[in-house]
Amino acid sequence: MRLVSFEGGFGRVEDGAVVPMGPSLVDWLAFGTQGVATAAPRPLAEVRLQAPVPRPGKIICVGLNYRDHAKETGQAIPTEPVLFSKFANSVVGPGADVVVPPEAADQVDYEAELAVVIGRRAGRVAADDALDHVAGYACANDVSARSLQFRSSQWLLGKAIDTFLPLGPWLVTADEVPDPQGLGIRCLVNDEVVQDSDTGQMVFGVAELIAYASRTITLEPGDLLVTGTPSGVGMAADPPRFLGPGDRMRVEIDGLGQLDNTVRVRS
Ligand code: ZN
Repeated sequence: MRLVSFEGGFGRVEDGAVVPMGPSLVDWLAFGTQGVATAAPRPLAEVRLQAPVPRPGKIICVGLNYRDHAKETGQAIPTEPVLFSKFANSVVGPGADVVVPPEAADQVDYEAELAVVIGRRAGRVAADDALDHVAGYACANDVSARSLQFRSSQWLLGKAIDTFLPLGPWLVTADEVPDPQGLGIRCLVNDEVVQDSDTGQMVFGVAELIAYASRTITLEPGDLLVTGTPSGVGMAADPPRFLGPGDRMRVEIDGLGQLDNTVRVRS
């Protein structure tokens, strides 16, 4: 099932239409109410989609989690997950602009990533049970301002910027993704393929990441885990290739659709 959020509610995509299912996808996940239609379907093309989870309670990101990406940035492959965070202010939906503040404008970069949405509370879960706590998966773009990211040892300043986490276009429920480590993942900038990998390249897989984080951080329905990016980021290109106004980014993950966003610079 493909679940979308829009102003005032959420629903499922069926035959090119959105069937409304209630006011909040996260409440629906948390309280497990049945997915009954609550209003007449509307054509998908006429619904302005938000991120499937517009205001996640937690956004846990993973750095250097693809072998090929750790290598291209000259860093060692981590022996433990490298976690950092973004906040709800960064989340935007499909088609939204990524609005770059002037302070961050010189080294803006894309990062295609698999986002995991938690569906059932996860506290100290074993890796073997972890995927039972996943509601589903979506495309994400961990947009990063490199000049700010590396200004100190903490990446937060270059990562947690308003609009810097496009998410969508929908949440594909976990029953349709039997193996989250078997998905092709790509990023295109202005129609050129710049990242092309698969989630089997992850150093720590989704189940392991949930087990690791949930040892000390209880994950709640609607929380996001953003699982790292493969090789091909702009800062590792020779010469580096950063984003500017009007650049179109597309993240594609097999079975999860395409997430399109355009870069704009705040004047
Ligand atoms: Zn990232």
